[in-house]
Amino acid sequence: MRSKFISRDGSIWVPEYLIAIDGKICIGCGRCFKVCSREVMHLYGVDDAGEILGACDGGEDDFDGELNRMIMVVDHAGRCIGCGACGRVCPKNCQTHVAADQIAA
Ligand code: SF4
Ligand code: SF4
Repeated sequence: MRSKFISRDGSIWVPEYLIAIDGKICIGCGRCFKVCSREVMHLYGVDDAGEILGACDGGEDDFDGELNRMIMVVDHAGRCIGCGACGRVCPKNCQTHVAADQIAA
């Protein structure tokens, strides 16, 4: 897997891939989802104990009354191109990104 790329001005670009979101800190604001063009993460419902109930497809589902809150989950990590946009808009700094050259090493 390549870990370094060349941008149009000739500079080196090392992607920083999103690999995880801390569900204990995430507030499910959706900002990261809105700026991502790759469908890498989605909102999931969690119960009082923090257990994931499932994807919040329609937004109206309360999972039979079990829904406590929503968090963002990285459910398609392999789609990430490492642009870093999601990390810049996150108000909780709860995302983990890893540089492509560290993954390849
Ligand atoms: S780094 Fe870019 S492509 Fe990857 S999840 Fe974040 S916004 Fe999407
Ligand atoms: S921007 Fe941050 S706090 Fe908001 S949903 Fe994404 S990971 Fe969670």
